[in-house]
Amino acid sequence: MMIIGVECTAHTFGVGIATSEGKVLANARDSYTSLTGGMILNEVAEHHVRVAEEVLKKAFSEAKLSWDKVDFVAYSAGPGMDPALWAGYKIAKRWAFDNGKKLIGVNHCAAHLSIGVVWNMLNDPCYLYVSGVNTQIIVKEKGKYIVIGETQNIGLGNLLDKFGRVLGLGFPAGHKIEELAKKGRYIVLPYSVKGMDVSFSGILTKVEQLYSQGKVSKEDLCFSLQETCFAMCTEVVERALAHTGKKELLLVGGVGANKRFCQMLEIMCRERGAVFYKVPMELAGDQGAMIAWEGFLRGDESGDIQVKPHWRVDEV
Ligand code: AMP
Ligand code: MG
Repeated sequence: MMIIGVECTAHTFGVGIATSEGKVLANARDSYTSLTGGMILNEVAEHHVRVAEEVLKKAFSEAKLSWDKVDFVAYSAGPGMDPALWAGYKIAKRWAFDNGKKLIGVNHCAAHLSIGVVWNMLNDPCYLYVSGVNTQIIVKEKGKYIVIGETQNIGLGNLLDKFGRVLGLGFPAGHKIEELAKKGRYIVLPYSVKGMDVSFSGILTKVEQLYSQGKVSKEDLCFSLQETCFAMCTEVVERALAHTGKKELLLVGGVGANKRFCQMLEIMCRERGAVFYKVPMELAGDQGAMIAWEGFLRGDESGDIQVKPHWRVDEV
């Protein structure tokens, strides 16, 4: 079976093709970027509409396939930004209708988790999902996802992007902050862990203040921001492993591209006899292959469900 997956929840428009065995045949994408403005909602939706046909063409050529071999079309129904979701949904619906395929809406967060599981061939991991909007620690019980810890306000990626905007780094900024951090030294920032939850908004205010006062260098702020936030996540995940007794940790989401973050989690896992897993770069951030695979897993239970901008993974 071949499934097309359409990703459209935020700045990336992606078309992936996966098989029913979890093999990724194509993963084409085009991401909206901006030099100064962060994500401008209507521009993001316009971007998706503009690039859709080209990205689809690229996916078909990567997989050496055409519509006749495709069994159904999956799309990201949420969570995400309203205009981007509607743009993606309409595109996926039109493709499905024009080619006589079933349309299947899936949860974007669940797709991040599922692609990591099939890629690493895991049984029952504890998940750390860290993207632009999301920072969640998740486990699965009796077939349902349970969020056992999360950010009380903004996601870690958003924090990095917002601070990056202040520094004039453009959007997205996570990888540029990682570069600057390599030349930085540590200064103390507010460390905000609340039970199993974390809070990033106060830290953002603090680094913005320090930057505007001009007393601390960009590099030191980036390094300290990373060390503090990554340590907060690592602490909560360690507690999650201790509570649940799980022996596998799976990191997914775009912030998972950060090498220092992976190193911290790896050390923590090793020290407590667990194994740290991540996904390759091309499957870490938003892309269509994970939507295709999740579509395969949910093929019987889902269908045309329009968009669900606030659909949490524990509601799946
Ligand atoms: P996603 O929403 O899963 O596509 O992830 C996008 C987020 O990942 C954005 O907030 C990026 O700034 C962030 N990101 C990408 N690469 C890195 C990196 N090397 N270090 C930290 N954050 C990153
Ligand atoms: Mg994502």
